[in-house]
Amino acid sequence: SDRMLAGAKRPEDEVEPSLRPQSLGEFIGQSKACANLKVFIEAAQTRGEALDHVLFAGPPGLGKTTLAQIVAKELGVNFRATSGPVIAKAGDLAALLTNLEDGDVLFIDEIHRLSPAVEEVLYPAMEDFQLDLIIGEGPAARSVRIDLAKFTLVAATTRTGLLTTPLRDRFGIPVRLEFYTAQELEEIVRRGARLLGLPLTEEGAQEIAKRARGTPRVAGRLLRRVRDFANVAGAEQVDATLADKALLQLEVDSRGLDALDHRYLNCMALNYQGGPVGIETLSAALSEPRDALEEIVEPYLLQQGFISRTPRGRLLTAQAFAHLGLAVPERSAG
Ligand code: ADP
Repeated sequence: SDRMLAGAKRPEDEVEPSLRPQSLGEFIGQSKACANLKVFIEAAQTRGEALDHVLFAGPPGLGKTTLAQIVAKELGVNFRATSGPVIAKAGDLAALLTNLEDGDVLFIDEIHRLSPAVEEVLYPAMEDFQLDLIIGEGPAARSVRIDLAKFTLVAATTRTGLLTTPLRDRFGIPVRLEFYTAQELEEIVRRGARLLGLPLTEEGAQEIAKRARGTPRVAGRLLRRVRDFANVAGAEQVDATLADKALLQLEVDSRGLDALDHRYLNCMALNYQGGPVGIETLSAALSEPRDALEEIVEPYLLQQGFISRTPRGRLLTAQAFAHLGLAVPERSAG
């Protein structure tokens, strides 16, 4: 979808001069994860060993790719990147793995989308730094074992639950990324404005941060759109009023919810009296893929307390009814 607030990457995100932090010191937020990573990186360096395999989990746009790059930079090693859907065959992964040097970081984005055949090749590579390949076909086929460099696999996934257990168990350093606080996002917005050369008042930064859905990628995107508004209006700086006007035009409400969030909440409130509603039912009613609802829409609504999950489906909270300006329907007991 082309949602403003979708955390997922879009080509335009890469066009601008990169707002990506380049070191742990520059990285804002996720302080616990960063502090742990710092220790593990230093320990690996002291021992002269490759860092344990790292798994970053969390909704799109929270900084998984950024942190993977930072890990490689802090270690002072090469960074090679690919993604689950791109690795079609076992041979593709073999080619990547045999080109790594000791200590290198191999980053696999969307690792939950690896095919089972490719996963099979990955297990011994992660565990014993060995590759078992079948060469040839039919009766002439034989198996060869290749020793690999002691590399570090850094992987990213939107939900750990999507990984097979054997794969998940092979990561020594699992890291869960959380939504950012308004304060952290404000700092990220101010840093972005500085890098873009955009004068921004404190209230302007607060306004953008509040609506960034807890997600740095969204904060960056909103900042660039607000800059467009400022440029066209000939404004010398962005204050709260200008930011507010720009963001309302983009259909972002005061809590950072966009048009799809509203469709989701309204559907639950008006069609299902607030639930419980099963995810398949919601997906059909909204004509949105279940994955997109579970990975992009729901995590933020859950975190903000607009919905809750029960064994019987999703439930709309009183807070959500209030935000929509609706009365909470009377539910019959039992
Ligand atoms: P993910 O891989 O989790 O989808 P990315 O690492 O690609 O997310 O980050 C998305 C965008 O947000 C990038 O443009 C990056 O510059 C920015 N970003 C992520 N984390 C931070 C942070 N802590 N501080 C500043 N910018 C960040």
